Formats: sequence, structure tokens, C-alpha cells
Amino acid sequence: MTKTEEERKREREGLLEELAGMGIFRRGSVNEFFRRCGTPSCHCHRQGDPGHGPQTTLTWKEGDKTRGRNLATRAEAERAREQVENHDRFREWLRKWQAWNEEQADWELSQARTEPRPEETALKKKLSRRSGKRRRGKSSV
Ligand SMILES: [Zn+2]
Repeated sequence: MTKTEEERKREREGLLEELAGMGIFRRGSVNEFFRRCGTPSCHCHRQGDPGHGPQTTLTWKEGDKTRGRNLATRAEAERAREQVENHDRFREWLRKWQAWNEEQADWELSQARTEPRPEETALKKKLSRRSGKRRRGKSSV
């Protein structure tokens, strides 16, 4: 799984482009439901009647509270569904961004291991001169 620096750079640019092109998103879910009204003589109280609806709502969490919003028109409901789907896309993007960063972070660490900076080398020499019996750590291999 070794990628070149150029490949990693292209990957990063691709991810940033993806983020820039991402649609507006929101957390939550869109649900449809039927309800019964308060008029006992209404058809919705008859057995087998689905009730009034479907009504579409958007619900989301704020802390430990669930909040909701009625979506009155079909266009509003469609837009809300897109926004919620975009959030799934964003979360998928975030997962990829995290993976990219951690791969890059590993690469940085391996670079730091194989190519010690001059000042680190100087410091090690100084330390080993000071205490001759100092145990060599794994990082000096
Ligand atoms: Zn009713």
C-alpha cells in the first residue's frame, strides 16, 4: 500500500474538491406518518382508515432533545431528504478524510524515523556523550 507523494497529493486534492462540491446538508431524518384528529365522527376514526396524511416531518437531535419540523409541501420534503442524504455523503467524506490524514501522519512518522533532522542527531550525540551507558531506544534503529 505504498503510495507516492504525488499520489497522496492528488488524493488530497480530490477529497478537497469533493468537499467543495458537496451540497448543503443537515442532520436528522425525514419521516412520513398518518394521524387521527380530535373529531370522533371523522373518517380517520373508522377501523381500517389510515388517518390523515401522509404528513412529512423532519426530526433531529439537539443534545438529548429531539426536535421536529413539519414539511408542508412536496418540494420542502424533497429538499429536506436531499439535505439529509448530503449529510450521509459528508460523513462518508469525513471517514475518507480521516483515513487520508492518518495515512499521511504514518508517512510523516516514518519519514521522521528514517531521516532524523540534523539538530536531533546533534542532540543525541550530546546526550550519548554525557551518559555513555544510555540504552539505545527503538527510534535510533
Ligand atoms: Zn380526522
